[in-house]
Amino acid sequence: MSDEAIAVLLVEDNLADVALLMELLQDSEAESWQVTHVKRLSLALEHLHQTEFDVILLDLSLPDSQGLDTVARLQATVPHLPIVVLTGLEDKTVARQAVAQGAQDYLVKGQLSAEMLLKTVNYAIERTHILRRLQESEHRFRAIFNQTFQFMGLLSPEGVVLDINQVTREVIDFPNEAIINKLIWEAPCWQPEQSQSWLKQAVLRAAQGEVLRSELQACTAKGSLWWLDISIKPLRNENGSITLLIVEGREISKLKRAEAEIRCSLEKEREVNQMKNGFISMLSHEFRNPISSISYAIDFLKDCDPIGKQKEQCFEQMGNSIDQALHLLDEILLLGRTESGRIEVDYTVIQLKEFCSEIVQVFQLTQGKSHQIVFSIEGDDSTQARMDGSLVKHILDNLLSNSIKYSPKGSMIRFTLVCQDNQAKFCIQDRGIGIPAKDRSKLFEPFHRAGNVCNIQGTGLGLAIVKRCVDLQNGQIHVESQEGTGTTFTVILPFK
Ligand code: ATP
Ligand code: MG
Repeated sequence: MSDEAIAVLLVEDNLADVALLMELLQDSEAESWQVTHVKRLSLALEHLHQTEFDVILLDLSLPDSQGLDTVARLQATVPHLPIVVLTGLEDKTVARQAVAQGAQDYLVKGQLSAEMLLKTVNYAIERTHILRRLQESEHRFRAIFNQTFQFMGLLSPEGVVLDINQVTREVIDFPNEAIINKLIWEAPCWQPEQSQSWLKQAVLRAAQGEVLRSELQACTAKGSLWWLDISIKPLRNENGSITLLIVEGREISKLKRAEAEIRCSLEKEREVNQMKNGFISMLSHEFRNPISSISYAIDFLKDCDPIGKQKEQCFEQMGNSIDQALHLLDEILLLGRTESGRIEVDYTVIQLKEFCSEIVQVFQLTQGKSHQIVFSIEGDDSTQARMDGSLVKHILDNLLSNSIKYSPKGSMIRFTLVCQDNQAKFCIQDRGIGIPAKDRSKLFEPFHRAGNVCNIQGTGLGLAIVKRCVDLQNGQIHVESQEGTGTTFTVILPFK
């Protein structure tokens, strides 16, 4: 205690008790006292507004206030001032209730000694000082705990959530009772099961002294998912035993998204590179055939100096090989242009009936000489469609050419055009070799050819080009086929 006099506010209406207390206080030589005596609570409150005291000695039955209410009113005015309740033997219970309510202690009037009075008052003052320092320290801790931008929580070593900071509370938005006093892995904010099992394990190990860290997924009450970089650390008391676990979390959703995007684009790049490599080796292989064939014919011409029919055959073979190489080059260039986005879709009005009839006529006179191509129109044949004529021609050329190539001579190919609902449907149906089911999913990939083509010439680029031309016009393409029976390709293109 300090050397200064202890300022006591004595609130007591019984003058005999006052006299006794004053006497006891004077008897205790260890301290000097400065006692202010009042008989009523109202007067006590007035004094408290004007003067500073170290302690209040309070009788609970005053003319203007009775019992616990007296304590409550004083506490409301001076929450940090220690109150020692003065009570008669018969009122001990009320005095104990007053202590439970926040009074520092109580003294039984009939059993007082100077020493006891001194001890009680000094302890009450000392305890209040300690309490105030504790409250200040708690306040500082709360300020840091709540103001940090990190998510923070305190757990018992068994994993029970004792506290979470304000940021956590605001973000997860679950009611306090769903989290506090619950095992951390049972809190509703951990959705995927793997988060829960990691937390369970982590709490067990942190309680043994380890520091653990992981990336976990959590969710808010509204159901939005986010990623957390979370760590659990043990906190030891002065004896070295683990008394608390501190959980810290930092949101890393953006980081995770960026990471996933990078991984995805790397994967895409890898796929593109793989495709490019595959494409180049296929291409080299495809060019090797006609060039070797020309080279072979030249050698034959040089070495054997053939005449007549043989010479003619040689030139014909060279001509065919050159055509084959040129066709391949054209297809590659076209595919390249569609793939790289260098083709601008040029919508013009097309008289579809005439447009298709002309294509069929040309086929009937060239590649399709030995087939019967039956062209028919359903729906409104006078419709003037706005489409890209050049892309439509690539589509029809390739589909008709395939139907001819992959069906027996003399067989019929049906080409039906249906114009309705602002779109054109082109169906090309043959009775050819069909496409095996296992090949259908890869049909539109460059260089893919079905297993049943045998020695029918082709590079496997036609349908890849068709698909790109359809996509560029926001259309659709479907195929129905049965091996040995025939194939129907259907292309639907919307009118622009
Ligand atoms: P090209 O690039 O010269 O057109 P291609 O005809 O082999 O060569 P695509 O037109 O892309 O290549 O066709 C790919 C594969 O699909 C063909 O090799 C063939 O196996 C199968 N195919 C396509 N159309 C038909 C069809 N009408 N009947 C049977 N198989 C077909
Ligand atoms: Mg083809």
